[in-house]
Amino acid sequence: MQENLKSRWQKYKEKNGVTPLDLLNPNTKPANNELAEKRFNICKECPELIPVISQCKKCGCFMHLKTKLDAAKCPLGKW
Ligand code: SF4
Repeated sequence: MQENLKSRWQKYKEKNGVTPLDLLNPNTKPANNELAEKRFNICKECPELIPVISQCKKCGCFMHLKTKLDAAKCPLGKW
């Protein structure tokens, strides 16, 4: 059970570059503002984004936060 949970988050991190826990970790490297804005602008044009809550249907993340983490990746490879 514990192992399944671990591998699930490992797979999530491989695909997304980060996990939601990285948002809470003070050692997580932030993206610079220009990069975060560029990423979020791509998300705003993406059909996978639920605009009203800025949540991605693919990864479940809130993109106004995820785009600000340097190591973050779009699960569809758009950024
Ligand atoms: S992370 Fe990728 S799939 Fe998700 S909303 Fe942004 S561009 Fe679309």
